[in-house]
Amino acid sequence: MKNSFFANTKLVGLIGHPIKQSYSPFINNVAFQLNNIDYIYLPFDVTSDDLENAVKGVLALGINGLNVTIPHKEKIIEYLDDLSEEVTMIGAVNTITNDNGKLKGFNTDVQGIVATLSSFKKDISGAKVSVIGSGGGARAVIYTLIRFFKPAEITIINRTIQRADTLQSFFSEKMRYDNFKTEELIPPDLTETLHNSKLIVNATPIGMFPDSDDTPTYLEESFHENQIIFDMVYNPPETKFLSVAKNQGAKVVGGLTMLVHQAAKSFELWTEQKMPVEKISDSLELMINE
Ligand code: NAP
Repeated sequence: MKNSFFANTKLVGLIGHPIKQSYSPFINNVAFQLNNIDYIYLPFDVTSDDLENAVKGVLALGINGLNVTIPHKEKIIEYLDDLSEEVTMIGAVNTITNDNGKLKGFNTDVQGIVATLSSFKKDISGAKVSVIGSGGGARAVIYTLIRFFKPAEITIINRTIQRADTLQSFFSEKMRYDNFKTEELIPPDLTETLHNSKLIVNATPIGMFPDSDDTPTYLEESFHENQIIFDMVYNPPETKFLSVAKNQGAKVVGGLTMLVHQAAKSFELWTEQKMPVEKISDSLELMINE
């Protein structure tokens, strides 16, 4: 007797809220096709109230792996059986593997951030940098900066200042890095800090589709030509934040490189195969410009 359709298909997916803007289903499903493997990737819109049930559902349905996005990267840790060493240093998960009912959390955002910033390593080393945000993305970028880029000082800027302070304490203890400042996200008060930063990272969803007119700061004086501005938001590829900075001569980089490289590492964890990164980037660009 023949197997029924999809009997051997492995299911992986994305949980987050909102997720309509995500390109991860496109990236992964194109990669499965290119590598000719029997996997499918689906987006699941899961609110914070449903997170625990969603994890139980992963186990009950035998879902083979997940990506985790805004706002669940920190909270999901308590529902997992095991964590990679990096996750214990970061405090956030963006990828889960399901090994016969044992869920393990990883953080592949690190690979995405390294790929995005590697050409600026000399500029960042020994410089002052600012990270806007204190959620899962900010945790990954702070860890990656300290571990691989060695900045002289990191200012963590957040709407809720207590969360910025929590990150400062967390990383001071975990990574023995004490050169932190924290500031509340009030644009006029931040101009000097931002202007004095060699690198500014937006690790908040401000400016993300459909709210593409929003920006963490609209103040041009925050930017100049000797800066690197990295926006983790990838939809739209050039956010308002980046376009204001670009007009002042700063080098700007959007979230698409990070997206593809973190996806490649997650793909490898699930399938033990390499994602064809260049082909995927080309397909993504074509899809976006369609
Ligand atoms: P998260 O854990 O939910 O954290 C969100 C952060 O943004 C918090 O610091 C929050 O501040 C702040 N925030 C949210 N809405 C805000 C608003 N309206 N005004 C001011 N601050 C606001 O989210 P995340 O996982 O870190 O993701 C952040 C962004 O990075 C998302 O857009 C995500 O898509 C993007 N990202 C992209 C990639 C990539 O591959 N390119 C990877 C990771 C993340 P409070 O603490 O005050 O709530």
